[in-house]
Amino acid sequence: MTRLDELRDGLADTEQRIADACTAAGRDRDEITLIVVTKTYPASDVELLAELGVQDVGENRHPEAGDKAAEVEAAVRWHFLGGLQTNKAGAVARYADMVHSVDRVKLVNALSRGAEAAGRTLPCLVQVDFDATNPGRSGVVPSGVPELAAAIAGADHLTLGGLMTVAPLGEDPAPHFDHLVRLSHDLRTEHPDAVIVSAGMSGDFEAAVAAGATHLRIGRSVLGERPPAG
Ligand SMILES: *Cc1c(COP(=O)(O)O)cnc(C)c1O
Repeated sequence: MTRLDELRDGLADTEQRIADACTAAGRDRDEITLIVVTKTYPASDVELLAELGVQDVGENRHPEAGDKAAEVEAAVRWHFLGGLQTNKAGAVARYADMVHSVDRVKLVNALSRGAEAAGRTLPCLVQVDFDATNPGRSGVVPSGVPELAAAIAGADHLTLGGLMTVAPLGEDPAPHFDHLVRLSHDLRTEHPDAVIVSAGMSGDFEAAVAAGATHLRIGRSVLGERPPAG
């Protein structure tokens, strides 16, 4: 079996699961954007995915993401999903088409300056963290959303796209995804265009579809298990 065949199968299985989740939730597949998370996989996989019709890919590390974005010729959108150091934000703003992981105001300023230098406007999401017991995780606590959202919306070279979360490990994700969707409704009273709800990974995306997610970030279910980080 060629890699193209493997990816075609992984994509078909994943699309079937998404379709089933949409049916169960009474939602349209068209309401949902699938972002295939290609971190740790080679640029050649991104090219093959693009051949199979994938338009959105996700990466969580700089410079791996930037190297791949430079290498890939297919016209895909690059979503940056990972923890971001302030001093790398400018570089990420040059190639990312959306940043899902904005979790502090300092990053807003750095991203906006980077987008300005690159002559572009960069859509950004506020990453929300629902795991109060684990302070090492990225994301703002729910009460911090309005301030950070206002900072993004007020930045000259950024737009506020909406909210993102990674469900706390080992917990039922459903209540957290529901909470994110409630926060999204609140956010839209102030920022009506901030409609994106980025939630759901290989292990929990059915719950995210049920809650109302608009963007799923799925890696292993399409690409296979990642080799352990070296
Ligand atoms: C790796 C990653 C994903 C995808 O995870 P899978 O389990 O491979 O589907 C989604 N979101 C973020 C932020 C990630 O880092």
